[in-house]
Amino acid sequence: MISFGPVPSRRLGESLGINNIPSRKVCSYACIYCQVGRTYKHSINREPFYSPEVLLSEVKKHLSALKEEDRPDYLTLVSNGEPTLDINLGDSILKLKELGIPIAVITNASLLTDPQVRDELCLANWVSVKVDAGSETVWKAINRPCVGLHFNDHIEGILKFASQFKGTLATETMLVSGVNDSPEMVQQAASIVEKINPDVAYISIPTRPPTVQSVHAPSELTVSEAFHIYKDRGLNVELLLGFEGTNFGNTGNIIEDIVNISTVHPIREDAMLELLKKNGADTAILNELLQIKYIKKVQYKSDTYYIRYFHL
Ligand code: SF4
Repeated sequence: MISFGPVPSRRLGESLGINNIPSRKVCSYACIYCQVGRTYKHSINREPFYSPEVLLSEVKKHLSALKEEDRPDYLTLVSNGEPTLDINLGDSILKLKELGIPIAVITNASLLTDPQVRDELCLANWVSVKVDAGSETVWKAINRPCVGLHFNDHIEGILKFASQFKGTLATETMLVSGVNDSPEMVQQAASIVEKINPDVAYISIPTRPPTVQSVHAPSELTVSEAFHIYKDRGLNVELLLGFEGTNFGNTGNIIEDIVNISTVHPIREDAMLELLKKNGADTAILNELLQIKYIKKVQYKSDTYYIRYFHL
C-alpha cells in the first residue's frame, strides 16, 4: 500500500502517510528501537522504487475516496525504511505538490551529506531529522548505521541542510533507557540540536514493539530531565510520548488540559496550581490523576513537575 490514513499526528494535524519504499525495509540505519522491524536491506545507495507518476496517481485515488472534511493537512513521506534512499524523491515531491497539500518528510538524515538529497528535501514544506546521538559511539549503538557512513560528516550534512532549508525544520531524539539517556549523552545530543536550531525539537520514547527486545523507554524522571536540558539551551522542545489525543468524555476540560499539556511539557507545580485555580478546580483532581497514573510527579533541580505517566 503506497498511502495510508489520514492519521492524527500531533506534529502535523491530519497526515496522509506515503510509503515510497515498497515491501521489505530498506534503510541506511538499523535502529535498535525501529518499529518497522529488521532492516532487510542495509544500504546508502539511492535507487528507484515507485515512479513519481505512480505515486501521484495512487495518492490522487486515495484523496478522491476521502470525504472533504477528511482532507489531510499534510502528505507525509514516512517510509518502510529511509525515504531519501528513493532516487525519485525530488521528482515525487514536485509531483505531489500539484495536489496543493503541504509535503512533510521524516528522515534519519544520514544521506544529507549528499547535496542532491539536500536540494530534494528543500522542496518539502516540513522536514524532521533524526538526532539520537551526540557522539559516534552512541550513534553506532542506537542507530547502527550502514558501513560507509561517518558521524562527523553526517552532522555536517544536517547543519548544511538546516542553513539551506526554508520550510519548517524539526529534530527528533528518541531516548532509549541505558543507551542514550544519561545526562551527559543528552547534553551531547542537545548541543548538536542547538547548532541545528530547529523550529521544534521533539524528544520521543519507544512506544511500540522495538526490533531489539531489550529496548525500553527511560523513566518519566529521565525524560523530564532531558526536556529541561534541551530547554535550558533555549530550544523549543516538545515531548512525543505516544499519545496523539485524548477522549475523556464528560470528565471535564481541566482533566483534558492537564493530560494534554503534560504529554508535551512537564508542568511546573506553580503553573499547575494556577491552571487549577483558573478552572475553579482544586488539588483533588490532581491527586486523582496521580492515583490513576495519568500523570506522575517528578523533581528537577529544586522544582516539582508533573509529566504524563507512560510506564503502565
Ligand atoms: S531510520 Fe527509521 S526506518 Fe530506519 S531503522 Fe531507524 S527507525 Fe527504522
